[in-house]
Amino acid sequence: MAAEIIDGKKIAAQMRAELKDEVTGLKKEGIVPGLGVILVGDDPASNSYVTAKERACAEIGIYSDDNRLSDQTTEAQLLALVEKMNSNPKINGILVQLPLPKHIDESKVLLAIAPEKDVDGFHPVNVGKMVAGQKAFLPCTPHGIIQLLLRSGVKIEGADVVVVGRSNIVGKPIANMLIQKNATGNATVTVCHTRTKNLADKVRRADIIITAAGRPNTVTADMVKEGAVVIDVGVNRVEDATKKRGYRLVGDVDFEAIKEKASLITPVPGGVGPMTITMLLYNTVESAKIAAGKT
Ligand code: NAP
Repeated sequence: MAAEIIDGKKIAAQMRAELKDEVTGLKKEGIVPGLGVILVGDDPASNSYVTAKERACAEIGIYSDDNRLSDQTTEAQLLALVEKMNSNPKINGILVQLPLPKHIDESKVLLAIAPEKDVDGFHPVNVGKMVAGQKAFLPCTPHGIIQLLLRSGVKIEGADVVVVGRSNIVGKPIANMLIQKNATGNATVTVCHTRTKNLADKVRRADIIITAAGRPNTVTADMVKEGAVVIDVGVNRVEDATKKRGYRLVGDVDFEAIKEKASLITPVPGGVGPMTITMLLYNTVESAKIAAGKT
């Protein structure tokens, strides 16, 4: 039977509508959530990500403080701006768009963001709290995956999950979230990477497959158990002469073949992607509520 498609755009729109209502309520109490956005340089992809994030903020009523800096900006100037935002009560979240130019130490900048404004969830304090099962800002892409699973009625507890990829922004945090002893965890997780032996055998055992490898066709239909849930985080360009821009975007899994076997599957684009920005908005609203003593 063909899989049901998990519509990330629709779920993201539902969550954004919920957040908009919440922000409207907060504004009546004089609380306006604010996001400080910093982009260094003029990389076109980063530029469009930042624009999309600011547009999403505006749509739900979050104030955004836009800072587009030249690629000549020094590390000291960037750190000074982060410091200014750390002490600005109008700013509840700070987003430094990555990657930064080579002359700036990325880890130093991320470390400079106050953990209580780290709405990307990359600061070691938040990473540590997440691993320890304490309340923390969860990184946006993995948190978005959890929301997709929950809102699609997938039972996480007791599930055998295989994660393909072990990056700090997707693979490691999603694996950690899913093993937590809480309502959105209690899964049994196997994390795979390029040194994994017999990837196909491992993936075939999974009730839930999560791929974040950045390589098309990393998971093919023969590796998928009948009825498995497939979450594809990968975003890959493949040449396509029929497209005006000369390429199309695909995920890490063989979508067309796997959708005949899986019970639920995310498309690329339109699956995990729309959730990432949504969870950034969610964390910013949470941060504003915490700053106002409301949670
Ligand atoms: P990354 O840092 O490049 O990590 C990729 C991981 O996949 C590595 O751990 C690598 O193993 C593993 N891997 C690669 N090829 C593999 C294979 N053939 N078999 C098994 N493991 C393999 O990537 P990332 O930043 O996590 O991103 C992954 C993908 O998700 C990219 O396509 C990215 O564009 C996409 N992404 C999408 C969103 C979104 O919002 N939709 C957000 C973040 C990322 P090793 O560690 O052994 O090298």
